[in-house]
Amino acid sequence: MNPAEVERLLGRILPTVQKPGRYTGGELNQIVKDWSTVPTRVALAFPDIYDLGMSNLGLAILYDILNRQSDVLAERVYLPWNDMEAAMRQADLPLYSLESKHPVAKFDILGISLPYETLYTNTLNLLDLSGIPLHGKERTSEHPLVIAGGHAALNPEPMAAFIDAFVIGEGEEVILEIVRTFKDWKTRQEPRGTLLESLAQIWGVYVPSLYEVHYFEDGTLSHLEALTEKAPIPVLKRIVPKLPPPLTRFIVPFIDVTHNRVPIEIMRGCTRGCRFCQAGMITRPVRQRPVEEILDAIEEALAHTGFEEVGLLSLSSSDFGPILNLVRGVNERFAGRHLNVSLPSLRIETFSAELMESLKDSSRRSGFTLAPEAATERMREIINKPVSTEQLLETAREIFSRGWHTIKLYFMIGHPSETIEDVRAIADLCKAVLKEGRRIIGKRARVNAGVSTFVPKPHTPFQWVPVDATDQIQAKQALLKKELRGPGLKLNWNKPEETLLEAWLSRGDRRMGKVILRAWQHGAKFDAWQEHFRYDLWMQGFEDAGLNPDFYTLRERPVDETLPWDHIDAAVKKQFLTEDYLWSLEGRTRIDCRERCFACGILPKYAALRRVHPGETWECPEVRSPRRKSHAKKQLPSPA
Ligand code: SF4
Repeated sequence: MNPAEVERLLGRILPTVQKPGRYTGGELNQIVKDWSTVPTRVALAFPDIYDLGMSNLGLAILYDILNRQSDVLAERVYLPWNDMEAAMRQADLPLYSLESKHPVAKFDILGISLPYETLYTNTLNLLDLSGIPLHGKERTSEHPLVIAGGHAALNPEPMAAFIDAFVIGEGEEVILEIVRTFKDWKTRQEPRGTLLESLAQIWGVYVPSLYEVHYFEDGTLSHLEALTEKAPIPVLKRIVPKLPPPLTRFIVPFIDVTHNRVPIEIMRGCTRGCRFCQAGMITRPVRQRPVEEILDAIEEALAHTGFEEVGLLSLSSSDFGPILNLVRGVNERFAGRHLNVSLPSLRIETFSAELMESLKDSSRRSGFTLAPEAATERMREIINKPVSTEQLLETAREIFSRGWHTIKLYFMIGHPSETIEDVRAIADLCKAVLKEGRRIIGKRARVNAGVSTFVPKPHTPFQWVPVDATDQIQAKQALLKKELRGPGLKLNWNKPEETLLEAWLSRGDRRMGKVILRAWQHGAKFDAWQEHFRYDLWMQGFEDAGLNPDFYTLRERPVDETLPWDHIDAAVKKQFLTEDYLWSLEGRTRIDCRERCFACGILPKYAALRRVHPGETWECPEVRSPRRKSHAKKQLPSPA
């Protein structure tokens, strides 16, 4: 099918579906190149609808980087909502790119963003709607190369059968190396296997078909075998030594999307070491952006887009070193321009309320968010988020006094060694915060508690621990529902089944691919959407695959067990994670590692890279040890 035929069918279909603006393209700042003169064409896909995908900063950055190359074009692809999917299937209209309306199957490379695991069935749906064989082994040189990256790719095994190559880590540099490797291969007209082997030589690229997994009889992993000497073990996470200049020419959607704002990443990585937090572990080292660069980027992005809101993004915004200078700079530079500036992920300290007030951000409407994650000091020490209850109450007082009416408190149940008293403490703490609010602003005070259930993630100190069983989760939620009611209090929670799905997929092995496939074949998709998630389809998937779901969730894994993601090196070493897990059992905490380096593994892995970029942006100590073998820019990972 060619673009003209796609356009013709769209003309017929679009008036019959909701929000046709999701499917038209043509927005301000989209880039359309001449398909016939650009040799390498990349489709960048987010496996959910446009409304969500348009807020994905990672894909927007790659779109910009690729389109800056004269010999490459990049276009966007999103999944259609159910009504559009039905109409497309009925009309035999394949999934197409928004810019030129070429079918996805006509592109050279399909790059899929996988920031979280509940997008896996959508990914299969995306391949199917594109007419691309689902399994990598069934694809030929006529099909696009299917690559994927994002945080979920740090355990690539559940999707190993469906993805040709995973990007492990940061994509800004590696994407160009992949495209160049592809272009060379295409020119030489070699077999597809040669392309895959060449890709495996790039630092940060994992090609799953070059490895075989062996299991013990009890179902645990024995080892991973490299099928060729060109397949390295481990595959080291790619990083950029310095954050590239921020993107400013954002595409402006015609319709309302999840975030109608300019997102500017101010810092990458986190040094706090919360033990449940995968992002905090896998995005190390911390690299900060200079304040002037951020201010200039805001200025430029506002001019290019007309947005009225800016999100200054990082995992822990109050840990951004020059945060006061940044806030002062924003206030001076944009005074009188009615700009809303949001600073998400603030720490629990009175300083956070001062910061937000000085930014005059828009959170007064929606509420001030704090994430203590646990309600007792004992539990907060176990998860390494040490903050005293008094400090939390003091921060709450400050927030109410500065004019907010609602405080949102985020907690998790199901942390390791949690007792029912720790759960009850969540209700007590919410009531205590509400009491402070009532004292300060009277009946206008509100506390909204968001209580999710902890899911252990790969590459964290809690990667070995079991997930609460359904009946445990239900008992804890029942207690909270009973205790957290009354005027001014609101409770939100997740269904236990949703937690289990995330838990199976996060720590799944390669066999999980069959469960995902069967669940999708039975009709599972949009699993991250509460109204669409069908637990029964997943149970059917496990049964078809002959696997026991409890094996992946309820079992405490011994620290010496081979884990499905052990061959993926996220740079924080396993020995550090093990020690940190054992520390948690003793309630021992770690301070911010900018105050004292705990030798988590980052520095030896990237010593050469650090040496080339001394003194700038990194928050890890300088490298002073003698030069030794490690990964400098462009240096290849060495096989074990
Ligand atoms: S090397 Fe040290 S300072 Fe750097 S992230 Fe690891 S513990 Fe923190």
